[in-house]
Order: sequence, then structure tokens, then C-alpha cells
Amino acid sequence: MTQEHRKFICITCPRGCALDATVEGKAVVKIEGSSCKRGMDYVKGELTDPRRMVTTTVRVKGGVHPLAPVYTKTPIPKPRIFDLLAEIRKIELKAPVRFGDVVIENALGTGVDVLASRNIPAKSEAS
Ligand code: SF4
Repeated sequence: MTQEHRKFICITCPRGCALDATVEGKAVVKIEGSSCKRGMDYVKGELTDPRRMVTTTVRVKGGVHPLAPVYTKTPIPKPRIFDLLAEIRKIELKAPVRFGDVVIENALGTGVDVLASRNIPAKSEAS
């Protein structure tokens, strides 16, 4: 199998190292530009099972705000992101919503839960 050079930006931490990787198929031969060993793990993950955290909002009925922010507890496979967003768009929570509430358990069978990241009190609680 032939080797090729690919560039990545590691998004594991805010430093965002620019990585030059030599890869052979899905195997990493060498990387340069990594400030720590997690850069190698990031490139391996990108080649074999790229994942991302997803943050978005979900509708809330009867809350002091019409939307609650939500996030995936752990990264989900990148190819499933649009399906996940479509699932989240179908949901309407009922206030009150509490930080950490499970909005979707085992989203799309990925094993990843979607959680609320903020309290949204019911309108009646706020007055
Ligand atoms: S290689 Fe290490 S230091 Fe650089 S962005 Fe990734 S985790 Fe951060």
C-alpha cells in the first residue's frame, strides 16, 4: 500500500496543533507537529472512526426560554451527526428542564446520550 501525507488540525485541546501525518491506508506511519502524544490518537481516530461532540438546542414547552441547549455526553460517529440533529429537531421537552437531564438515551443506538446543559425553569416557577 502506498504512503501519503495528510494534514490534520488536532481538536483534542484548545492548542489545535497542525499535524502532518504520513499514513498508509488507515495506519499512521509518522506524525509531525504534535505537541503531545494525543495527537497520534487523534489522527488514528480520524482515520478509523472519526467522532465529534455535538451541541445544539431543543425546543421547550412552557419554559422561560423556548430552547434548551443540549450536548452529546461523548463524541458520536461523524457520519451520524445529521441523523442525530434530525432526531433532536423532533423533540419538544416540557419545562422544567434541569442541567444534566437525559434528553435522548443511547441516541441512534450509538451508546451516546444527549444531555441538557442548562436549567430551563417553567414559566410558573419563574414568577
Ligand atoms: S497534539 Fe496534544 S497539545 Fe496538540 S492539540 Fe492535540 S492534544 Fe492539544
